[in-house]
Amino acid sequence: MRDDADVLVVGAGLAGLHTATLLARQGHEVLLAERRPGLTGAIRTTGIFVRKTLDDFPLPPEHLGPPIRRVVLHPPGRGRPVTLESERDEYRVGDMGPLYAAAARAAADTGVRMALGTRYEGRRDGAHLLTGPDGPTRVRARFVVGADGARSRVARDLGLDRNRHLLVGAEEVFAIPRGTAPPTFHCVLDPSLAPGYLAWVVNDGRHAHVGVAGYADRFPDGMRRALDRFGASAPGLPDADRPGEVERRGGPIPVGGLLRRISGPGGLLVGDAAGAVSPLTAGGLDPCLRLSVHAADVLDDALRSGRPDALERYDGAALRARFRGRLALRRGLAQVRTPAVAAAAFTLLRTPVGRAAARRILFGDRSFPAP
Ligand SMILES: Cc1cc2nc3c(=O)[nH]c(=O)nc-3n(C[C@H](O)[C@H](O)[C@H](O)COP(=O)(O)OP(=O)(O)OC[C@H]3O[C@@H](n4cnc5c(N)ncnc54)[C@H](O)[C@@H]3O)c2cc1C
Repeated sequence: MRDDADVLVVGAGLAGLHTATLLARQGHEVLLAERRPGLTGAIRTTGIFVRKTLDDFPLPPEHLGPPIRRVVLHPPGRGRPVTLESERDEYRVGDMGPLYAAAARAAADTGVRMALGTRYEGRRDGAHLLTGPDGPTRVRARFVVGADGARSRVARDLGLDRNRHLLVGAEEVFAIPRGTAPPTFHCVLDPSLAPGYLAWVVNDGRHAHVGVAGYADRFPDGMRRALDRFGASAPGLPDADRPGEVERRGGPIPVGGLLRRISGPGGLLVGDAAGAVSPLTAGGLDPCLRLSVHAADVLDDALRSGRPDALERYDGAALRARFRGRLALRRGLAQVRTPAVAAAAFTLLRTPVGRAAARRILFGDRSFPAP
């Protein structure tokens, strides 16, 4: 079979859905191919949205959990945690299945053609190869957008940069009985549970997310066991028994900073495929939405003007310079290899300077840089 489009977008995560919708809204013909048969399964994110995203993007409020203003940072032994309270609503956890479904409806309503259960297989003889429920299709598109996640096949085919510096993360999600405790985000700095990153519990009074992330080769007995160990003693959970059924999520997280070469004559990368994730916090939802706006703008310009060099201003190297501080802090976090070093970091965190620095990172106004 054959198909044509102005733009083929590969991957219907938040980056692909947003880019496709913006392009279709500008009048372009967009085909969005996603290998998963539906968007509400195999979710790969906790779904914590930060205040800046909630301020700037109209996410459907009915699919967002209660606001969170309280963060508790725990040292390895869990003694004397550091509690930080904000006077503003800082985070809300998305109910990601319904949120993706709403974004897909918005995409379809603007005219995006969605091909679910359809895998991008590569490029041959100037066409893109997709394999879907009805067999293989050759797609001719002026541009391809790689929104296909941290291990992007599109990046490889376009000869663009690829993520090399990755964490892996996994979590369990379950409903909890409504309690009286304030919604809280607990972070545990313990390299035996989360080597190079954090273990977390997000309890917003409706759902609990219990997770760990770190460098894959540094978990002492594997990530799954680390998650089990953490789950058995995780802070901030209600006393009630955990339900028998929990949703499991997980996946790679690129933390090497925005990649330098994220566009070429044939297309560009957005979201995790472009490395658009904060190297320090590993938050990628705000970056993927903001970079998608830039991508759609550049592609619109390229499609209207027909200029072959129009994609050159989609330049990761220029934006990457603004990540220097966060990359330095990532290197610092990666060096926390023993509980003793983590405990020493808490000595600093308990000082006024340490608390102020933590507040700036957790409650600050910074977000993914505008181009
Ligand atoms: C455990 C975990 C927790 C996280 N928690 C948070 C958080 O709370 N807050 C936050 O800001 N960030 C978080 N992140 C990061 C954030 O989730 C990602 O940065 C963000 O979701 C990236 O969106 P994306 O659209 O680029 O990629 P994805 O959501 O990964 O979407 C890529 C899509 O491409 C599809 N695909 C891949 N290959 C192909 C192919 N060949 N053909 C067709 N389709 C393909 C995949 O099926 C997928 O649907 C977390 C990440 C992990 C792993």
